Amino acid sequence: DATPPSHFLRQIVQADLDSGKHSSIVTRFPPEPNGYLHIGHAKSICLNFGLAKEFGGVCNLRFDDTNPAKEEQEYIDAIKADVEWLGFEWGGDVRYASDYFDQLHAWAIELIKAGKAYVCELTPEQAREYRGTLTEPGKNSPFRERSVDENLDQFQRMTAGEFADGAKVLRAKIDMAAPNMNLRDPIIYRIRHAHHHQTGDKWCVYPSYDFTHGQSDALEGITHSICTLEFEDHRPLYEWFLDQLPVPAHPRQYEFARLNLNYTVTSKRKLKQLVDEKHVDGWDDPRMSTLSAFRRRGYTPAAIREFCERIGVTRSDGVVDMGVLEFCIRDDLDANAPRAMCVLKPLKVTITNYPEGQTEELRLPRHPKQDMGERVLPFEREIYIDREDYMVDPPKGYKRLVPGGEVRLRGSYVIRADEAITDADGNIVELLCSYDPDTLGKNPEGRKVKGVIHWVPASSSVECEVRLYDRLFNTANPDKGEAGTTFLDNINPDSLQVLSGCRAEPSLAEATLDDRFQFEREGYFCVDSRDSKAGAMVFNRTVTLRDSWGG
Ligand code: ATP
Ligand code: MG
Ligand code: MG
Repeated sequence: DATPPSHFLRQIVQADLDSGKHSSIVTRFPPEPNGYLHIGHAKSICLNFGLAKEFGGVCNLRFDDTNPAKEEQEYIDAIKADVEWLGFEWGGDVRYASDYFDQLHAWAIELIKAGKAYVCELTPEQAREYRGTLTEPGKNSPFRERSVDENLDQFQRMTAGEFADGAKVLRAKIDMAAPNMNLRDPIIYRIRHAHHHQTGDKWCVYPSYDFTHGQSDALEGITHSICTLEFEDHRPLYEWFLDQLPVPAHPRQYEFARLNLNYTVTSKRKLKQLVDEKHVDGWDDPRMSTLSAFRRRGYTPAAIREFCERIGVTRSDGVVDMGVLEFCIRDDLDANAPRAMCVLKPLKVTITNYPEGQTEELRLPRHPKQDMGERVLPFEREIYIDREDYMVDPPKGYKRLVPGGEVRLRGSYVIRADEAITDADGNIVELLCSYDPDTLGKNPEGRKVKGVIHWVPASSSVECEVRLYDRLFNTANPDKGEAGTTFLDNINPDSLQVLSGCRAEPSLAEATLDDRFQFEREGYFCVDSRDSKAGAMVFNRTVTLRDSWGG
């Protein structure tokens, strides 16, 4: 009857519920607050929150905050806003791995007491040497056989702040010859004299990611701990800690392939570099791959969720074409965005046979299929059309305005170009046209007019700025360039085009932040949330009308 769950994680959850292994599920999304979320994180959010929602469970939002040096409150706030914007709700309060620092510290002491952890004083270089390689086993640290009492004393003094950063670490005592490098006595605590955004100056030792993650999952009763494939090799360590410690539950870790998207980078480190070095205008610059950038650019949460569903969840890495994401937003906006007209490169047109001072209020539907009501568009003697819609020497197949030719103004009359007025340099500055009064809502008598162009009235249209975005990188894989180059060398210098003096139809003066439009013949646009002001509106192009790339 019911179609089988569509991906392996759904199948696992379904089976665990069917078998009674779990009566309900708890997942978590565990970002490190060291940057803004990007489109890759959306995949993980939709998966973790989506599974919980779908199966009537709960998903926690847990900040994985074990590295105070790189973390900030600004990032915490932005991440919460992004998750909510995507349409998800976390279970209970926001959690922090740092909520568990007391418990984790106590468990570290238990490991020491059980002879399963020791304080090591090898320098980082020595530790690397002792660690061995993939093909060669490591060597035991000379500090490995310290007594429990000495280890307890050393760890207590580490915690009390007696030693400098990096002087000593606490390591799990597992197996320096393990084929899996993660089991070669991994670090579980390190010294960092740093102020922490949640715990202040309480600690100068911080647990490692591996020592934190599984135990936090256990403390929260996570049933399915879902992460990306690079953590597959960490799973035996995740299990090892859970097996050694008196944890209240034993969660399972599952891995899936991370999202890679072409023509962009999805790494917080690289995104931060783009911001810090001012290649872009902040984390929410609409060319970035962050969720706040997609939001500012006019993407809808529904389109991003649809994208995440469409690309699926597998265990094999691949690269998704940016066109898939663009398809999803175009599809959403085509169905749901009201239509409007905006002339990006205005050319004044005077309709010489239209009476001066007269105005006709034309009514146009806001949407061709959905009932969204009508908008009023005043027609008058002076209007603007786009410069590109008039050509003296048109190429074959050009259906717009040519000298002596006719074209329909969208939702209005047919006009004929009678004369072009040029300035001293020969540039066309104005067209003199005449209109056929008998063509409103009907075809002209005895001739066919094929072209339809957009226009706005001169007096009541709104002057505005329009920003056109292109891909931030001009190669499909910005990280793979010639030797000696970095992703920064692949930045597209023409990724932003700012058009000022554009003219929007009068109804757009009322556009507010969450409004999105199809500007007829130009693409999908939204109001820029940062720079647009009443009287000085700024519109961002979300996406073009059609895929202008490939295909
Ligand atoms: P980055 O490399 O950009 O810093 P990260 O994995 O270190 O990413 P976290 O904040 O630790 O960032 O990520 C939170 C969650 O989002 C993790 O579970 C991680 O696996 C997941 N995630 C991060 N990037 C992607 C991606 N490209 N595709 C799918 N999931 C991702
Ligand atoms: Mg991480
Ligand atoms: Mg990272």
